[in-house]
Amino acid sequence: MEASKNKRMVACPQCHTLTEFNEKNPYRPFCSKLCTLIDLGQWASENYRVPDTSNLDEELSEPHSSSK
Ligand SMILES: [Zn+2]
Repeated sequence: MEASKNKRMVACPQCHTLTEFNEKNPYRPFCSKLCTLIDLGQWASENYRVPDTSNLDEELSEPHSSSK
C-alpha cells in the first residue's frame, strides 16, 4: 500500500487519538480545533493568574493614595 506509506500518524497530545500529521490537518499535532483550544486554554489560564493578581493589587492601592 503506497497510500499508507504517505500517511504519518501521530497521537494527539490532548486526547491521544491517532491523527494525520500533514498539511491537511491544520491543528497538528492535535486531532481537532477543540484539542488545540483546550491546550491553549490550559497554558493561557496558567499564564493569566500571575499578572491578574498583581494588577488587582495595583488597582486597589491606586484610589487609596489619591484619596488624600
Ligand atoms: Zn485530540
